Amino acid sequence: MTYTYDNQNIFAKILRSEIPNDTVLENEFALAFKDIAPQAPIHVLVVPKGPYVCYDHFLREGSDEEILGLNNIISKVIDKLNLSPSDGKGGYRIISNAGADGVQDVPHFHIHILGGRSLGRMVEKTKFGI
Ligand code: 5GP
Repeated sequence: MTYTYDNQNIFAKILRSEIPNDTVLENEFALAFKDIAPQAPIHVLVVPKGPYVCYDHFLREGSDEEILGLNNIISKVIDKLNLSPSDGKGGYRIISNAGADGVQDVPHFHIHILGGRSLGRMVEKTKFGI
């Protein structure tokens, strides 16, 4: 498996502070910031600081520290934004799009955290069927 990372992608520029972002949380290994075009009242992106193209790239080549660091940020975002479901209310959805079939636009691995309203079914049926 080979992955080619384009260091001119928009999230690489955000990580280098070449363009601004609305930061939610940050640690040594990952950054969480608000999506510029939110699809729900809460829409946060979590990215590793390392140069990974997609989720499987990160899992294959990321260090244990990086993987833990990213997951710690996700956990803290869920806490900070009160997304954890309780008494049958609240909750969130985590998505990571990868590649052409996943319709990934930005080729730097990222996790979407969506919440703040009911998000409907996970994937809608299309004219193509399953
Ligand atoms: P993808 O389709 O790659 O999974 O998602 C990329 C996400 O990045 C989209 O939800 C899009 O709105 C968001 N996005 C694209 N450019 C920027 C930007 O410059 N700043 C921020 N904060 N989000 C961006």
